[in-house]
Amino acid sequence: MTRVVYSTESGRHCPACNNPIKQCNCKAQRQQVSASDGIVRLQLQTKGRKGKGVTLISGLDLAPELLKKLAKELKQRCSTGGAVKEGIIEIQGDQRKLLERILLDKDYSVKISGA
Ligand SMILES: [Zn+2]
Repeated sequence: MTRVVYSTESGRHCPACNNPIKQCNCKAQRQQVSASDGIVRLQLQTKGRKGKGVTLISGLDLAPELLKKLAKELKQRCSTGGAVKEGIIEIQGDQRKLLERILLDKDYSVKISGA
């Protein structure tokens, strides 16, 4: 007599590491590799720049369209020009103090780095 035994004890296996779900630690590993630490960094870049340089705002974990919207607002509030490049907002001139205040008002954690 042949019995087909359906095992429910082993349960599902993780497709990534092939361990039973209970033993899988893929999720924990993913959590360690976070793209953003939630801190917005303001940096003045003068090298290769004309005049007073540009203030770089990095660490903003925003979708491209939201990043553009924020850049537009920041440019208006600083009364200067700027751009968005590869997830980083560039604002012309040394606007670190003003940008820090604006971003703190928006509940971002802000760090000023560099010279
Ligand atoms: Zn796994």
